[in-house]
Amino acid sequence: MIQINNITKTYQQGSSQTQVLRGISCEIPDGEFAFIVGPSGSGKSTLLYLMGALDAPTTGTILLDGQSVSAMSPAAADALRRKQLGFVFQSFNLIRNLSALDNVLVPFLPDGRQPEMQKQARELLSSIGLGDRLHHRPSQLSGGEQQRVAIARAILKQPRFVFADEPTGELDSTTGQKVFDLLRQLHQEQGTTIITVTHDERYIKATDRIIRIEDGKVLEG
Ligand code: ADP
Ligand code: MG
Repeated sequence: MIQINNITKTYQQGSSQTQVLRGISCEIPDGEFAFIVGPSGSGKSTLLYLMGALDAPTTGTILLDGQSVSAMSPAAADALRRKQLGFVFQSFNLIRNLSALDNVLVPFLPDGRQPEMQKQARELLSSIGLGDRLHHRPSQLSGGEQQRVAIARAILKQPRFVFADEPTGELDSTTGQKVFDLLRQLHQEQGTTIITVTHDERYIKATDRIIRIEDGKVLEG
């Protein structure tokens, strides 16, 4: 369970300050498929990164299973991210000169060199339709295939939470639907909690949790 208690986030740039989040509170129980929606610039990515312990709020607390993420040491936050959290970004963030298989394994080095882990990565890529793309580099893959590689990289460790920031932002709608089909499969089969930012509300289902933010506040959620 993720509990967000009255968080604010202010970015300081030189002498100017921008308050992006102005007192956000919400909860995401385990096993939810949740969306963060809102206009461009409303702070969706900021909120997602705070939930994923990639950044710290200016004030307020974020609790994961009752434990304050904001108060964790950098080493503890790093261990949390490495073991329990998976991240998927709009621009895939794959390494250009590595194959699909190596891209999936690179966060796990040196263990990623072990045959057992290589086997798991190959099986995972095959299970999401990329069995014949293992040795292709990102430039030899379509956008949808690249995003599926990025999702495989995020889920190989079987994280409890997957955070996705506009994962279909660079994809056409058919390919985007396939990416969401994969996230939904993961959610159903493994009970993974999925939290995704999107501006495209077509991918949202009635049973999903929606956190709608505008002007730094929660409108719904
Ligand atoms: P969204 O994802 O909803 O489009 P963001 O969370 O990316 O919005 O950004 C919200 C606001 O915060 C924007 O005005 C953006 O320019 C600003 N912002 C985001 N990150 C930073 C940063 N690191 N430094 C300064 N301003 C930032
Ligand atoms: Mg964003």
